[in-house]
Amino acid sequence: MNALKSAFRINRDLILVLIITLVLGGYTAQANAKQSLFETFKPIIVIDPGHGGQDGGARGSDGTLEKTVTLQLARLIATKLEPDFKVMLTRTDDYAVELDQRTAAANHLKADVFVAIHTGGSFVHSTIGTAIFYYRNSSGPDPTRDNPSSGNPQRQRGNRPILWKNVQNSHIPQSRTLAGMIAARLQGLSALQSRIEGAQLAVLQGAAMPAVLIEVGYLTNPAEEKNLRDQGFLLDLAEHISLGIEDFLARIKQ
Ligand SMILES: [Zn+2]
Repeated sequence: MNALKSAFRINRDLILVLIITLVLGGYTAQANAKQSLFETFKPIIVIDPGHGGQDGGARGSDGTLEKTVTLQLARLIATKLEPDFKVMLTRTDDYAVELDQRTAAANHLKADVFVAIHTGGSFVHSTIGTAIFYYRNSSGPDPTRDNPSSGNPQRQRGNRPILWKNVQNSHIPQSRTLAGMIAARLQGLSALQSRIEGAQLAVLQGAAMPAVLIEVGYLTNPAEEKNLRDQGFLLDLAEHISLGIEDFLARIKQ
């Protein structure tokens, strides 16, 4: 009888172990499936570091080049966002990329957000501040961007055909929201004054998703150039811009 009892107990224990293994295994498989599903549906963010190669962009009096600052900052933003999002840069080193190729890359990836990074440049050394631009369709000259010195090549050029012409039009309200959310986060950086402007920028025109262009201060202002050479300041900027992008993505997911 005792032998029978203990045999029964062994069997019962075995069955228990088997059940636990099956249940736990099931949960693990489910968790893995959930994780890979999550990976598949991670929002895609394209960061576009302005200029590159022969095109250095604006230059500060200490010789800092816009193309260098934009790439450094884009890399830092990518590092901040990468755990939770798929992030792609339109250039990963110092080489030239055409404006329409930058937008095309974002469209091809079906990105959820496109953020171009630039710095300002002006003959007036006292010009300061950060500006966040969304696309504004206008047939006339842009009254908010009447600055011939900046020489920003992302401006629309003459009759050059633009890929996905007017695609951005249907995303303008969301682009403006994105600009507002990044600006709100940048207010946390006391050294900066942020403004939001609509402008007819070619690099935004063909973007088939919410898209903004951020000018992170003026390289031609000696104080801002000094900031933009400072890794700690760039890290702060990257942190605040990333938070603005995250705020926006959390809002459109609702
Ligand atoms: Zn630029």
